[in-house]
Amino acid sequence: MRESFFQKKFDQYFLKDKNIAKKIVKNLSFQNYNTVVEIGPGLGILTRYLLTPWNKVFLIEIDKKLILFLRKNFSVSKNQIIHKDFLKWNPEEMNLKNFAIIGNFPYRISSQILFHILRYNQYIPECIGMFQKEVAERITSHEGNKTYGILSVLVQTFYEVKYLFTVNKHVFFPIPNVKSAVISLKRKERKIFCNKDLLFQCVKIAFNQRRKTLKNALQYFKEIPNYYNLPFLNKRAEQLSVKDFLQLTKEIENRK
Ligand code: SAH
Repeated sequence: MRESFFQKKFDQYFLKDKNIAKKIVKNLSFQNYNTVVEIGPGLGILTRYLLTPWNKVFLIEIDKKLILFLRKNFSVSKNQIIHKDFLKWNPEEMNLKNFAIIGNFPYRISSQILFHILRYNQYIPECIGMFQKEVAERITSHEGNKTYGILSVLVQTFYEVKYLFTVNKHVFFPIPNVKSAVISLKRKERKIFCNKDLLFQCVKIAFNQRRKTLKNALQYFKEIPNYYNLPFLNKRAEQLSVKDFLQLTKEIENRK
């Protein structure tokens, strides 16, 4: 049956193992929220464990064929099964202000999915997601590691991240070329003290020239005087902690 649905263009790898599906869903805490948005439900292997009488579920799926399948097979009201590209979905249009995200994400756009989550982080206290293992490692990596980069800093600014478990590629149809891993994001409840857009800009500029010291990479912001006295300006981006990046952004902001 799965075979007749598979579409490569939508990055579809259907999970076959119910125990893994259960294990993924069990990681949702349901602390202070009761709405869950699933990205790319596919044939609904995760969905069936999300549907309980005490929570509300929205499914966002790009593939029309799968939308029809979900509408036929799950007793979820029509307006909760949404035919849309998640990257174009705006929770404000539905007045959704507090919900968790879950999904076995389409890997090709997983970074963009994360950026979309970060855009709306004020509404999203938690996310449990399956990623390509390599991407999961990048998201959960810390300073000083090769895999530490833009995604690590930006996601960890807003969320506590945890690598939950690795998933073997043989539990999918079709079998992907890569291993997978499930991670959790739990929102840090303190507010950041610098400008969000400037932070994104700063982190991207620093890592896009990752061989340069910060002082050189950040020449872009002409407002940073040379005598400027931050202890880490002679380091490279991958040596800076999340906290360092926040402090740096604040300093740039103050000088603008
Ligand atoms: N959750 C299912 C399917 C995972 S495959 C399972 O675990 O078996 C990824 C799913 O994401 C597919 O259903 C695919 O159609 C959907 N998808 C791909 N791109 C999408 C997008 N931009 N927005 C929403 N869904 C998308």
